[in-house]
Amino acid sequence: MSLWSLRYQDFDPCKEKLRETLCTVGNGYFATRGAAAEAKADGIHYPGTYIAGCYNRLASVVAGRTIENESLVNLPNWLPLTFELHEGQWFDLQRVQILDYEQELDMKKGLLIRKVRFKDDQERITRLTQTRLAHMEDPHIGGLKSTIVAENWSGNLRFITALDGRVENLGVKTYRQFSGKHLLPVRQSVSQNNTMFLMVKTNQSNIEIAEAAKTTVRRNDREVNVRRKPIIRSAYVGQEFTVRVKKKEPISIEKIVAIYTSKDRAISECGQAAMKGARNAPDFSQLVRRQELFWKHLWSRFRVRVEGDDRAALTVHAHTFHLLQTISPNSIDLDVGVPARGLHGEAYRGHVFWDELFVFPVLNIHLPDLTRSLLMYRYRRLDEARLLASQRGFRGALYPWESASDGREVTPILQFNSISRKWSRVNTCLQWHVNAAIAFNIWRYFQVSDDTEFLSLYGAEMFLEIARFYASIARYNESTGRYEIRGIMGPDEYHDAYPHSDEVGIKNNAYTNIMAVWVLGKALEVLRRVSMTTRDWLLEKLQLEQDEISRWEEISRKMFVPIQDDGIISEFQGYEKLKEFDWQAYRKKYKSIQDLAGILTSEGDSTNNYKVSKQADVLMLFYLFSSEELKELFTRLGYPFNKETIPKNIEYYAKRTSHGSTLSRIVHSWIFARLDRERSWQIAKEALESDLSDIQGGTTPEGIHIGAMAGTVEIFQRCYTGLVTRDDVLWLNPLLPSEIKKVSFPIFYRGHTFQIELGARELKIKSFSSPAPAAKVGLYGKVMEITPGTTKRFRLKKSQGRSNKKKQQQQRKHYPRGRV
Ligand code: BGC
Repeated sequence: MSLWSLRYQDFDPCKEKLRETLCTVGNGYFATRGAAAEAKADGIHYPGTYIAGCYNRLASVVAGRTIENESLVNLPNWLPLTFELHEGQWFDLQRVQILDYEQELDMKKGLLIRKVRFKDDQERITRLTQTRLAHMEDPHIGGLKSTIVAENWSGNLRFITALDGRVENLGVKTYRQFSGKHLLPVRQSVSQNNTMFLMVKTNQSNIEIAEAAKTTVRRNDREVNVRRKPIIRSAYVGQEFTVRVKKKEPISIEKIVAIYTSKDRAISECGQAAMKGARNAPDFSQLVRRQELFWKHLWSRFRVRVEGDDRAALTVHAHTFHLLQTISPNSIDLDVGVPARGLHGEAYRGHVFWDELFVFPVLNIHLPDLTRSLLMYRYRRLDEARLLASQRGFRGALYPWESASDGREVTPILQFNSISRKWSRVNTCLQWHVNAAIAFNIWRYFQVSDDTEFLSLYGAEMFLEIARFYASIARYNESTGRYEIRGIMGPDEYHDAYPHSDEVGIKNNAYTNIMAVWVLGKALEVLRRVSMTTRDWLLEKLQLEQDEISRWEEISRKMFVPIQDDGIISEFQGYEKLKEFDWQAYRKKYKSIQDLAGILTSEGDSTNNYKVSKQADVLMLFYLFSSEELKELFTRLGYPFNKETIPKNIEYYAKRTSHGSTLSRIVHSWIFARLDRERSWQIAKEALESDLSDIQGGTTPEGIHIGAMAGTVEIFQRCYTGLVTRDDVLWLNPLLPSEIKKVSFPIFYRGHTFQIELGARELKIKSFSSPAPAAKVGLYGKVMEITPGTTKRFRLKKSQGRSNKKKQQQQRKHYPRGRV
């Protein structure tokens, strides 16, 4: 089994859209779904090309209401290349007899390869091999090489190659009620040197998109001149040509495209840039060579090697690969965030959510500059976040739950229920915990990178404005003597109101309240960490007075957290009064209960009535913080926190969670890792299959789940090693599941490059030569120094092969230390 390839040995129309998502090629600038070059959007295929940050807004009238949506735009399809088998019958896999079929995503090299051997109805046998890439070195270049070998025939073959801008956003069934026509034609032409050119423009954001393609025909690797007939229509440009095919003599057609938009830097005009890009692009074989080189380099920074379970090893490669196709060094200069569904489809309209909380930790230790650049996406939208807070009547900054081009709130307010087939209101925009995730990401990035410049210039300002927001939404309750946050929604999207209440939002979501406490407390530390000059400047700029800071301090000590007498932290105030849900009955009644909200709504019921969670909510606290940190937070608030708090709450919520979000299993696997390793590993295996097996039954065809992809990589690199950067020390606290023999990966930490290798009995840390001073590394509570150019080996405590009870006690003792 290759650990580097996703391989499909058959053509299955029912699975084609899923494979198109999984076979996307991308480079952080643009990505193209793995749809066949001859395919059009229909029930089987969905070609899609997306450029990071290329959004457009459209208004549609639905059920008498005008709704505006902002979407990542499906751009002109640069792939079209097809040939005529015989008069009027163009190549179509469903109309030939497939003799052999293989599609391979080679993740080591960044290539998608399709090999088809087929017989047409004239009994002619033909072999077609196609290789596709989105270039990692030059992010504006895409390439497709098609080689045709006629096995038992000779004759003329008519080809059409094109750039097709007549596309719409049609990739998500439930969005088809809304308008998806984002593109206007601008111009199309074929130049004298046979370069096809197409320019379109988005109809609201006015982004021009230019594509230029050069098509070269080769016989036995030698270029042949063919007469081409241009086909020019509105938003479409093509060329038709006929090639004499001789039996067993390979004919190849190389199509190299350059893609630019009017938002790109270092260009005069995107049309010109595209023409120049296509003209100057090297030939396909050179592109492939450079592609391999660039991917080799990327893998040397990002590869997490898993030994002992080949499927897990392959999946970790696939997840890292798709993460890097969405966010890569090419993203560093772009003004983009992390789209929750990658650049692989149109689900969630390419919006940016809190999922970066799961993504940044991977980037932080492999290429922290990338996190910095993605945090700048938030910084540039700070004014918009300030506006949103003030529109809601609060101070500070409120980042939107869903963000796209300019950072305004773009969360939809209507959602289609696929079971009841009705539209209903959604209140997910009340998830103000997104703010805390951004603050948390700033702090975590700072901890790993020690980038005080970023903190001083950008991070601190965002952090303080977020703290100010939480202080401004916290209301003092005279009767309890505590501060409260009302009218919101936690990460568990199953609860947006109390049973039979018309008021939206719930009170005192424990996760949000504790995160707010953490933010308010840390804000004071942020102010201490920046220089005096920066501090003074920030205080003046934000008009932050001592009174306000003192109030933050007070709130961070008096926030209300709904904790029951038995130590269970209520997800929100009143959660404990909700009905228990009959999981067994519903599991029996429905094939899948992942969309529990949809099921209950269709029955006239609501998840609001039950103790059910779509995803980790309270449990997020144990994912983000160590027990010591939580103890500190609880003690600060005057609430009890003992050694039973964590296991008790994990057990309580694990039983009541449907895992309706792919993020949920990441958290559950992580928090069980030191309580019940078998269970944790079982959940990790399910999480690993989120996209490759489309475990939600139909969501992956519309885009990958980038948070789950990054989160699973994290399970191997940070959860099993217990890797934490805190107080200038790189802490490790290893514990591998017995199924995994070894995990190894590089990490880039404050000027050091380490290679960490964790086996069942030994932990090896190799520090590569560098001018950096010795780094502090902590293991099992002891801190030591590692000098660049040296290797340290540690024998690990034997914790395997113990009786379950003893093993679990041992594991509890090692419940993770600080994670931030
Ligand atoms: C989850 C959110 C997540 C979003 C985008 C939703 O289903 O509930 O937590 O941010 O998907 O991935």
